[in-house]
Amino acid sequence: MIIQTFTAYIGIGSNLSEPVEQVKSAITELQHIAHSNVTSISSLYLSKPMGPQDQDDYINAVLALETSLTPLELLNALQLIENNAGRVRKENRWGARILDLDIILYGNEVINNERLIVPHYGMKDREFVLLPLAEIAPNLSLPNGQSVKLLSQNITINSMIKLS
Ligand code: ATP
Ligand code: MG
Ligand code: MG
Repeated sequence: MIIQTFTAYIGIGSNLSEPVEQVKSAITELQHIAHSNVTSISSLYLSKPMGPQDQDDYINAVLALETSLTPLELLNALQLIENNAGRVRKENRWGARILDLDIILYGNEVINNERLIVPHYGMKDREFVLLPLAEIAPNLSLPNGQSVKLLSQNITINSMIKLS
């Protein structure tokens, strides 16, 4: 049997409870997702919060995952990791959070259902997604053909700093 695999790109963010440690342990957890292999990990970035400004700066990264999980199976795995890290879902959108794991891209697939929109709807407007993504996948294009590198070159950096 031939098992089809996809390269998914996962966006990682945290601004609570030692965010550098949160992101590092999330990466370790992502390396243990079943039927998947992490193939590339970006640097960590320090970025300004989106939306409410009365919260700490964020630590962000993006990694590439070679996976044979379906998109919804992958989302379930990510949400389990978020919950295990102690994420509490609150009413206020874009508020402080201990861990956010988003599916940025899943192969060349376009997905629109109740639980999942891929490519991630905000990716083109977010420096903390585009720059780490372009760092690990400079030749990547979106399903619509747009170049990640070009998008990353045209985004406002918003005082984001590459850490390591
Ligand atoms: P944003 O979506 O603007 O980055 P957020 O990541 O804080 O905000 P969450 O509270 O983490 O939002 O997720 C809300 C819901 O978004 C999830 O329950 C999930 O079903 C849905 N969702 C839709 N598309 C995606 C995606 N590409 N990756 C992760 N979650 C997604
Ligand atoms: Mg998010
Ligand atoms: Mg999310």
